[in-house]
Amino acid sequence: MVFGQQTKEQWIQRDPQLKKIVDLEPIVWLNPKQKAIKDTHLPLSRTDMEEAEALWLRFAPYLAEVFPATQETGGIVESPFRLIPEMKKALSSYFETHIQGELYLKCDNELAIAGSVKARGGVYEVLHHAEQLALSAGLITKDDNYKAFADETFKQFFSQYAIGVGSTGNLGLSIGIISAELGFDVSVYMSADAKPWKKELLREKGATVHEVDGDFGKAIANGREETLQTPNAYFVDDEKSRNLFLGYSVAAFRLQKQLKDENIAIDKEHPLFVYLPCGVGGAPGGITFGLKQVFGDNVHCFFVEPTHSPAVLLGLMTGLKEKICVQDFGIDNCTEGDGLAVGRPSSFASAFSEQLVSGVYTLEDNELFELLALLADSEEIYVEPSAAAGLCGPHKILQSGYCEENGINAEKAVHIVWATGGALVPKEDMENFYEKGKGLLK
Ligand SMILES: *Cc1c(COP(=O)(O)O)cnc(C)c1O
Repeated sequence: MVFGQQTKEQWIQRDPQLKKIVDLEPIVWLNPKQKAIKDTHLPLSRTDMEEAEALWLRFAPYLAEVFPATQETGGIVESPFRLIPEMKKALSSYFETHIQGELYLKCDNELAIAGSVKARGGVYEVLHHAEQLALSAGLITKDDNYKAFADETFKQFFSQYAIGVGSTGNLGLSIGIISAELGFDVSVYMSADAKPWKKELLREKGATVHEVDGDFGKAIANGREETLQTPNAYFVDDEKSRNLFLGYSVAAFRLQKQLKDENIAIDKEHPLFVYLPCGVGGAPGGITFGLKQVFGDNVHCFFVEPTHSPAVLLGLMTGLKEKICVQDFGIDNCTEGDGLAVGRPSSFASAFSEQLVSGVYTLEDNELFELLALLADSEEIYVEPSAAAGLCGPHKILQSGYCEENGINAEKAVHIVWATGGALVPKEDMENFYEKGKGLLK
């Protein structure tokens, strides 16, 4: 087979790191195409992010009304930001190394509504769609109180419209939960590897679950096809969505405020390093785009993927982006990091990440469980396996030569590991994850 005028063998010969990827060895790849922010050409700007934030604010009274978990924050869906010094100690002894700088966790595992980072992108895209429909129908103006979206008349109005999404799990949960709450007729197309509890929870919330025989790419293809055949239907397309991406990007404004509240400066002397678990690249890409708008070249973002699902890594390394998938290189896309079990990168997000991401590293599934258990023991924070992937980032990147190559002094670095999910995982599943990790650490 030929990809981009070369066979798999020619690609591997040209790039020894590709051979390691194909052999499923963990690697750290630094992005040679990363640009200074002033040299980037991006199809979105800070103004788009500000508009996205304004939409979230219009919907805040509605969200506070229908999701009691967001009442305390006045309907703002945001997660805490925590210093995790005990985990830093645990990592230092696990890797037998000194980690320069401070270590923080961005706890999207606690996000309301969906219990994962998907509460940002997924909820945003559905709210955006609902607003468009309500505005066109003359049901509301942007100056009205959006609490009205909780009224029966709105629910009846939205029941004429369908929403579809393809998902390995977490995106389906976020789209399903918010769509059903608004009154939409929502269908979630789930890949074979999606966990049964996710399907049950969705059905309980009023979504229709379609089980697709195949992986995430197949679930998307199937969902897209069936949704497009349904009248009045809208498909949330994880492989190319602008609105998911914008929903994620708003995290940067929120984080900026949290850092300020804690008197944490980000500048040349105090560089910010962010470690983001990556599936199609939408969530990490959107957050990276947002952070770059806010912190410019003082923020360094790294994505992390399982060795069995290095979709974005392959897309960026080869430059072929969404035109290539892990299966093209004989990689099976089988991982227990279910939020990351993605074979093909998002076309929309890859165009940004190509210019903005500092690098991508991969890790083995066993390490996900070990890191999960270390975090639980040291900080009593429980995250899902995917969400633990960023925890080894500071060690891997500090060792990679990135700082030396870029003239960065990491002595006063601020490391933020993005914990992308966990809150909705049933207790028993979480106990099994933990026990698995503990067993491996022995
Ligand atoms: C979806 C997801 C990610 C990655 O998001 P993408 O947009 O697919 O890159 C990371 N972690 C968890 C827990 C997720 O559910």
